[in-house]
Amino acid sequence: MLAPLNILLVTSEARPLVKTGGLADVSSALPAALRELGIDCRLLMPGYPRVMQQCQNLREIGHLDGLPGPSEARLWHGTMPDTGVPVYVLDIPAAYDRPSGPYQDATGTDYADNDWRFACLAHAAMQLCLPKSQLDWHPNLVHCNDWQTALTPAYLHFAGRPAASLMTIHNLAFQGVYPPSSVATTGLPADSFAIEGVEYYGRFSFLKAGLYYADWITTVSPTYAEEIQHEPLGMGMQGLLSLRNRQLSGILNGIDTSDWNPMSDLHLPHNFSQRAIAGKRKTKIALQRELGLEIRAEAPLFAMISRLTYQKGVDWALQVAPGILAQGGQIAILGAGEKEYETALRALAAAHPGKVATIIGYDESLSHRIEAGADLFLMASRFEPCGLNQMYSQRYGTLPIVHATGGLSDTVHAGIDGFSFNEPTAHAFWLAIEQALEAYRDPPRWRKLQKNAMRKDFTWEKSAREYRALYQRLVASNP
Ligand code: ADP
Repeated sequence: MLAPLNILLVTSEARPLVKTGGLADVSSALPAALRELGIDCRLLMPGYPRVMQQCQNLREIGHLDGLPGPSEARLWHGTMPDTGVPVYVLDIPAAYDRPSGPYQDATGTDYADNDWRFACLAHAAMQLCLPKSQLDWHPNLVHCNDWQTALTPAYLHFAGRPAASLMTIHNLAFQGVYPPSSVATTGLPADSFAIEGVEYYGRFSFLKAGLYYADWITTVSPTYAEEIQHEPLGMGMQGLLSLRNRQLSGILNGIDTSDWNPMSDLHLPHNFSQRAIAGKRKTKIALQRELGLEIRAEAPLFAMISRLTYQKGVDWALQVAPGILAQGGQIAILGAGEKEYETALRALAAAHPGKVATIIGYDESLSHRIEAGADLFLMASRFEPCGLNQMYSQRYGTLPIVHATGGLSDTVHAGIDGFSFNEPTAHAFWLAIEQALEAYRDPPRWRKLQKNAMRKDFTWEKSAREYRALYQRLVASNP
């Protein structure tokens, strides 16, 4: 008989309350999908102003004593405004009631007391698992997400492991690194500052604590879970991650398949499906018109929607662009980010009017029309923990051309539902583009590839089932 699963998912972000990255999407979609499977998953979040304002049915349920530092903490219970998932809110006005972002002030500087702020969150998560907790609900596993929550497994360890713990890495680049003196701020024992503990190259890393003390570690794709065990993608954590590789696995993120559904997408001028694909062609022509591209139904239309950063391989995209244009292709780019890439992409559009459209900015509605109207999607990330756009593309019959890394490698199968390249160079990228163009000129083959891509299952239910199996194993081995 399997124990019932009571999962406390602790996170600093959840859509639609607070979002700075993909973590917020996972933290809202996964608990909802788990609850659909009958798992009692509840959230714990900091009481940021937007959380206090937007949570529904908020009521105070108690106080928490014994948190690190001079904290007066109240605990509230509410529900997510869209999905109704239960949320515990940790209300410490001195820590979380600040007018700018969750981590930084209005000038973009990290708050000086982030160590204390997130130690409180992690400590509260641990306290909710103690037998003497005032809750009438007892979590048997805490699912921690990124560095802000990564002290939880350490606190659980020093409290005698009252619940199992899972540490998920959404972004290994953020590690919550502080001076050794911060250990005292968090209330962890001084001797935890050791290689076998929270020490990280002479400093104190919250993420390291999570990776060291958690019962299990996941990342958001199986291939990324492999890659981070080595340089350079391990970003300094590769030693510990390879040591723990028996307790490390990857579970792919899902996508919001109701938001991203070509049959009902309200952002599109025409809807379509795998069987009724004609609407895609009409959407392409409407997109060419909207972006000021030449109206040419037969021209292969390449798209890119991305943060414009080095990680995303924007420099490689700039290098392959002349080849695409020489083959009669068109390019539509939507993105924002580093100024030098924005300038170069604008210049590319200016030099090739009617053939290249560059839109600098963030525009969710346009991103749907580009995904739907394009034929091919360029995603040459140098590394990619999971990636979403390649999945949106496949669902819209827009075949992705990707660098075979991380989640891109796990979701795109070359010659079956997209195209890929291994070697991290612009030349390898170009060779994959040539293969894609060859397939594009062979309509029956193209239709087959599109069908394969459009049929894929990217629902959160699939991911939630994998998390459920993992939770069951971890709870069973934490008596
Ligand atoms: P990352 O989280 O590293 O930025 P992902 O592919 O996982 O990359 O997710 C990026 C998300 O942000 C996608 O939903 C993508 O469509 C969206 N996005 C990125 N840039 C823009 C933009 N300029 N306009 C609209 N949506 C964008």
